Amino acid sequence: MSDCLFCKIINKEIPSLVVYEDDLCLAFRDIAPQAPCHILLIPKKHIPSMAEVCDEDASLMAHLMTKIPLIAAKEALTGGFRVVTNSGEDGAQSVKHLHFHILGGKALSGQMG
Ligand code: AMP
Repeated sequence: MSDCLFCKIINKEIPSLVVYEDDLCLAFRDIAPQAPCHILLIPKKHIPSMAEVCDEDASLMAHLMTKIPLIAAKEALTGGFRVVTNSGEDGAQSVKHLHFHILGGKALSGQMG
């Protein structure tokens, strides 16, 4: 999608600090980190949010999930971490390209909403 911020990051039209990349996904550092380690993991396919994930995305979603422990290990998040995806208005999603926040590097609060 030409007007999507994260598609522009995928296409390197906008710079980012990449921590992992393969044919199907990209992980990069969040520009406004909410924890010492705050990484966004995104599919290269433009999927607007979790609400639009469908059956044909099943293997892509599995691919993304298996990259999370790999990224966590690379970032030495040995004490644990949190994975969050915001979806839609009530979910406070600001960028309309599916992304998983990976947060860690400190003991996070128990608050979820
Ligand atoms: P959400 O509010 O769940 O849609 O998350 C969007 C995230 O994208 C926020 O945590 C932003 O800080 C982050 N973000 C926005 N623009 C950029 C950018 N250019 N590079 C890295 N992260 C960004």
